[in-house]
Amino acid sequence: MLNIVLFGPPGSGKGTQSEKIIEKYKLCHLSTGDILRGEIANKTELGIQANIIMSRGELVSDEIVIGMIKNKLEANKDAKGYIFDGFPRTVAQAEALDVVLNALNQEISCFISLEVEKDELIKRLVKRGEECGRTDDNLEVIENRIAVYHKQTAVVAKYYEKQGKSHPVEGMGSIEEIFERITAVIDK
Ligand code: ADP
Repeated sequence: MLNIVLFGPPGSGKGTQSEKIIEKYKLCHLSTGDILRGEIANKTELGIQANIIMSRGELVSDEIVIGMIKNKLEANKDAKGYIFDGFPRTVAQAEALDVVLNALNQEISCFISLEVEKDELIKRLVKRGEECGRTDDNLEVIENRIAVYHKQTAVVAKYYEKQGKSHPVEGMGSIEEIFERITAVIDK
C-alpha cells in the first residue's frame, strides 16, 4: 500500500496537490481540515467547538483529530492507500498515526514536505480568503496559523527524518511543475 503524508505550512498547496495525487494513484484522501469543516457545516457539537479554535488559527486537540482519523481509516478499509493532508500536525499525532497503522499492518511510505516562502504563503491565503471566504483566511489569523505551524507543527518533519522517510519538495512554481516534483518522489 502507498500511504503518503503531504506536509507543509498553511497555503503550501497541500489541498491542491492532494487532489491531483488521489486522481493519479487512486488513494483515499484524509484531510482533517476538510473533515472539521464538514462538522462545522453540519453544525455538530464537535463542529461548534472546533470552529472557535479554527477561527483563531489554533490547533484542535490531538485527541479529537486522532479520533477522526481512526474513524476514517475504519470506514475506508478497502482503500489502495491513503494520503494524509493536514495531519499529523504535532508529534503526538504522528506517533498515534504510527500506532494505528501498525495495528493494520501498514506504515507511512513517504513524507512529502512542500517548501514555500512566507510571503508567498500569505499572498495565496489572502487571495483564497477573497475568493472563497474561509473564515480563517484573513491576515491576522493567517499570521497566527503560520506562527502555530513553526511552533507546533514544523517539528513533525524531524520525526519522519529520523525514520528516513522525509522528502522536501520545492513548493514554488506552477501547480503542474510542483506535481511533477511530487510524482518523481512517489515513483522512486
Ligand atoms: P491550512 O493547512 O491551510 O491551515 P487546514 O484545512 O489543514 O488548512 O486546517 C485548517 C484548521 O483546522 C487549522 O488551522 C486547525 O485549526 C484545524 N486542523 C486541521 N487539521 C488539524 C490537525 N491535524 N490538528 C489540529 N488541528 C487541525
